[in-house]
Amino acid sequence: MSNPSILILPGDGIGPEVMAQVTRIIDWFGEKRDLTFDVETDLVGGAAYDKHGVPLADETMARAMEVDAVLLGAVGGPKYDDLDFSVKPERGLLRLRKEMDLFSNLRPAQCFDALADFSSLKKDIVSGLDIMIVRELTSGVYFGEPRGIHKEGNERVGVNTQRYTETEIARVARSAFELARKRGNKVCSMEKANVMESGILWRDVVTEIHEAEYPDVELSHMYADNGAMQLVRAPKQFDVIVTDNLFGDVLSDCAAMLTGSLGMLPSASLGLPNAEGRPKAMYEPVHGSAPDITGQGKANPIACILSFAMALRYSFDQGDEATRLEKAIEKVLSDGARTADLMGPEGGTPISTTQMGDVILEALDASL
Ligand code: NAD
Repeated sequence: MSNPSILILPGDGIGPEVMAQVTRIIDWFGEKRDLTFDVETDLVGGAAYDKHGVPLADETMARAMEVDAVLLGAVGGPKYDDLDFSVKPERGLLRLRKEMDLFSNLRPAQCFDALADFSSLKKDIVSGLDIMIVRELTSGVYFGEPRGIHKEGNERVGVNTQRYTETEIARVARSAFELARKRGNKVCSMEKANVMESGILWRDVVTEIHEAEYPDVELSHMYADNGAMQLVRAPKQFDVIVTDNLFGDVLSDCAAMLTGSLGMLPSASLGLPNAEGRPKAMYEPVHGSAPDITGQGKANPIACILSFAMALRYSFDQGDEATRLEKAIEKVLSDGARTADLMGPEGGTPISTTQMGDVILEALDASL
């Protein structure tokens, strides 16, 4: 059997800085856990534009289609702000998502106890929080036709169309049920079936898939507006939430902020499973290229490292090793390790990106 393969695309700004720490952690798993990956590194975003004149070369795209998982840092920066839309760094990211057909976007909201004070909610409401929002990413109102702005009589009218096929709903529902089986075995589906036909279909299809294929998973339904209230009232009631593109956009940002800093938030985008049941997958931190701190050793690498932990769990079936890595991060945070973005009002001395990598590796060693 060949080793599982990873394509690393560090990208721009702090992307390469945080990815350098992920690479050290990948090497650690090879050396200490006999978990060796075939790793290739390539260019995306502005870095690819500088070399190839496009934000993602065709050869890189082809490799992304072949590997077991893509790890991406971040793209963009002021240097590229004036480029034509067609070659902007973000187009590289969008091309990857589109051609890999990554329809299921996973955004965990996980609150490390040591950072519970960073949340805008009371500590006991968020402490120990661990939920996953699964957002449909390639359809719905952001893509539906007709769309546009037209004139009706003397005034302009803006139109967007919420449109979902059964197939689109079914595949993201399956993705959520599969995830739930690897976590707390509960799915809450959110829509607005009270006022939208697409919401009625959404609820029907999720229910059908549940009854036919996942009766062992606990399923509930909630209107998305109530879901928003429940997320800030009692977020720990949820395990996996599955919802459409628009509601998912709003609810996942809301849930993510329950947990504090942007430098802590990972994400995954998954496509259809291949013959071995492994989905096409891209893992990336939620944050961007942070030009304001690039090159200063200030970037928090944890979002990118947690994205790799998601890859261990969802692409490589290494849930125990993913937990080992998450626990190592929890340990260093509870020991007081903080990059600059995690400094509270009480102050203290922040550590650098590399030093955060150092202490996480030490905690991994101590876990053996
Ligand atoms: P940003 O996420 O890059 O930064 C927002 C703020 O958070 C900044 O103050 C930054 O210093 C801080 N920050 C972000 N990540 C951090 C980390 N790991 N550690 C410590 N602090 C961190 O968003 P922005 O400033 O709006 O955008 C900057 C560039 O990134 C733009 O070109 C934008 O288009 C691009 N962008 C890319 C992605 C992506 O690659 N997925 C996402 C968002 C923005």
